Amino acid sequence: TEGMNAQDLGKILHREPTEIVKKLFMLGVMTNQNQSLDDDTIEILATDYGVDAQKIVPEDIGDLDKYFELSDDDKKNLKKRPPVVTIMGHVDHGKTTLLDRLRHTHVTEGEAGGITQHIGAYQVDINGRLITFLDTPGHEAFTEMRARGADVTDLIVLVVAADDGVMPQTIEAINHAKAAKVPVIVAVNKIDKPGANPNHVMEQLSEYELIPEDWGGNTIFVNISAKTGQNVDEVLEMINLQADILELQADPNRKAVGTVIEAKLDKGRGPVATLLVQQGTLHVGDPLVVGNTFGRVRSMTNDRGRRVKSATPSTPVEITGLNTVPDSADKFVVFDDEKTSRQVGEERAKRAELNDRQKAHHVTIDNLFDSM
Ligand code: GDP
Ligand code: MG
Repeated sequence: TEGMNAQDLGKILHREPTEIVKKLFMLGVMTNQNQSLDDDTIEILATDYGVDAQKIVPEDIGDLDKYFELSDDDKKNLKKRPPVVTIMGHVDHGKTTLLDRLRHTHVTEGEAGGITQHIGAYQVDINGRLITFLDTPGHEAFTEMRARGADVTDLIVLVVAADDGVMPQTIEAINHAKAAKVPVIVAVNKIDKPGANPNHVMEQLSEYELIPEDWGGNTIFVNISAKTGQNVDEVLEMINLQADILELQADPNRKAVGTVIEAKLDKGRGPVATLLVQQGTLHVGDPLVVGNTFGRVRSMTNDRGRRVKSATPSTPVEITGLNTVPDSADKFVVFDDEKTSRQVGEERAKRAELNDRQKAHHVTIDNLFDSM
């Protein structure tokens, strides 16, 4: 609907553009014939003429967000889904060590010696319940995702070294969690070290409204050693407990939608992307749009490097079959047929190109003024 003005509306409604401008004036909107109007204004105008706004505003096929909405049918099919967890904390407080330990201690029998693929996310199985971890620790990935409208994280595990306490990036992580309204579980790490003082960490974090349950708050604290593995399983149990409280659900029956965790160009396989399924089930062969590109799922591999045919909600999978490499945080949507996915994908690619060109244009104008 971008760019629709009184002239366009005049054509659609079979009225003179001047009449539309007058009508809008009566409705309190000052405009001329060429000024583009927002959707709300168009809807008000349509209602005033007794016309269905949907008929005026052509469906925006390039908008992927709308496919994330659940229909009434979808809502009837909601099932429990695994939580998606991001580990955050100050540098050197043990994020990577914890992620590696979780990954290695919960690889199923027989796979333990196998190569562990790094696809940007992995799942652990704790007593038959899955937990998905995004394995790019750090705040940039999280902020970047959020900035681009991808809220994939359900829970944050905040790692704080017991011998170092609250540090600048700890506070940063807390602020990210608050802004995103994502609950935090605190893992007080390195309790094996002689200088460890977990109580001090609790005191410090209380100032940031992360108050342990023992002290009358509602934040879960676990004292761990990512290095020795002490209490690490308790972190997993606490994640599951918190996930139960959040009642995380998704409809596994609909067509899949989700988010790109990471993507790259592989010399042999072409564009590969790690997708996190958020609703529905993704199947090999599905036609899909991913960001500004499209394709068909040619192959699908899980976090263990195994070929799989389908992926349910909260599952990360690496896929091939896209035309170009998407960006991380891009959304993906599966369509009924390849024709539609091509149409939507091409529309989005066209827009992205236009956008880029406009940006480049602005830069030249700025440069022009700079040099004057
Ligand atoms: P990150 O920057 O948060 O990813 O931190 P790392 O996982 O890279 O850990 C930083 C350093 O702390 C490494 O030398 C780890 O071996 C060490 N480390 C991590 N966890 C523990 C722990 O529980 N105990 C001890 N003693 N050292 C740890
Ligand atoms: Mg690290």
